[in-house]
Amino acid sequence: MTTVTRFAPSPTGLLHVGNIRTALHNWMLAKKAGGRFVLRIDDTDAERSREDYVDAIRADLAWLGMEPDAEERQSARTAIYEDAFERLRQAGRVYRCYETAQELDLKRKVLLGRGLPPIYDRAGLSLTEADHVRFAAEGTAPHWRFALDPAEPIEWNDGIRGPQHFDPAQLSDPVVRRADGSWLYMLPSCIDDIEMSITDVLRGEDHVSNTAAQIQMFTALHAAGFGAARPLPRFAHEALLVGTEGKLSKRLGSLSGAALRESGIESDAVVALLARLGTSLPVEPIADRQTLVDTFDLSTFGRAPARFDEAELDRVNHGIVHQLPFVAVADRLPAGMDEAAWLAIRPNLEKVADAADWWRVVTGPIDLPVFDADTRAFLRQAEADLAWQDDAWAVWTGALKEATGRKGKALFLPLRRALTGQDSGPEMARLLPLLGEDTVRRRLLRAAGA
Ligand code: GLU
Repeated sequence: MTTVTRFAPSPTGLLHVGNIRTALHNWMLAKKAGGRFVLRIDDTDAERSREDYVDAIRADLAWLGMEPDAEERQSARTAIYEDAFERLRQAGRVYRCYETAQELDLKRKVLLGRGLPPIYDRAGLSLTEADHVRFAAEGTAPHWRFALDPAEPIEWNDGIRGPQHFDPAQLSDPVVRRADGSWLYMLPSCIDDIEMSITDVLRGEDHVSNTAAQIQMFTALHAAGFGAARPLPRFAHEALLVGTEGKLSKRLGSLSGAALRESGIESDAVVALLARLGTSLPVEPIADRQTLVDTFDLSTFGRAPARFDEAELDRVNHGIVHQLPFVAVADRLPAGMDEAAWLAIRPNLEKVADAADWWRVVTGPIDLPVFDADTRAFLRQAEADLAWQDDAWAVWTGALKEATGRKGKALFLPLRRALTGQDSGPEMARLLPLLGEDTVRRRLLRAAGA
């Protein structure tokens, strides 16, 4: 059976690093198995869902190189939900309730006050037809709950958490449909997972108790004849992402794909970090997707929260930038900057955008420090002794060393300062040909005060 995974964001906000990580793991799971990765837009909440967020989600996935094999939208699938719901209704697996939010809150408080778990009392199940008629006459529409079967123990072998066991009697029957007819996330998600032949549901551990209820929904839907008879998907729940201070901070929550992109972080760095964060595999600046995909394995995932550290992302980013080929960055470099320049400057960059600063050093004009008389004399001699040729730097500095007795810093630093205005930077041997003979001679003479 072809592996099919899905990433199912609700378009009520931008994706943050935690969501991106879940998307990536689903993408990798599918790629490793030669399967399919589906983007499912969970937009049943018409009021909070926004089209610009859908666009942003697509843009983030495209930027990260995780383009889905298919895109589905829940808002376009309500006819399918009606059909499945009708089957559950006929099978007695959904029932009408009328409690207001305040009434439910009160019930919960009473139970908690008595030291009992706040489980819904299933009052809706014992309403008579006369009760329903009365509510209808009052103009009160019902919302619907899924009836969990207390006699059907819930078990699954979680791909990350291992064997899981839930007592259905300890769960509240989930609300699946609002009084206005709109859908809550739980049931449409199961219907879609069946209908789209999803084989693996990989998501955050905040969904563990949803999975417990959803397993009974899958079984009830199958029993009601909805969808082809197939095994349930495999479930895996990954530990949540936390910031360095140990919780999902505001900062982390607002670190969206767009924010990362704008900060100049490479998408390959985001992928390399998030692919392995929270696993026993080492986080390394691996630019090759196939390597990440080949080594992806749920059994390496830990149960402890994964710590996201922006400093670590920066480190991975440097490592990635230092490997980027010219073709990958050409359209982000200043006009005129060619491959030789990129290769010379690349090892000194933290971010690709910083290449412009070094390119300005090459093209000039640059500010020069003030040199003492001794250094000025040295620079004058350096200009005179320069023989422009291939490998000019090695030959030139070798000759200057012989002639002046200068070595190390005393030899190299004045040259670097005179030619770049900086104390450090890209290798001079690679910068020299970029500067060109005229510029080199001009800068030396200017520094020498000649
Ligand atoms: N829309 C749900 C969420 O964003 C989907 C969860 C899932 O089933 O993956 O939490």
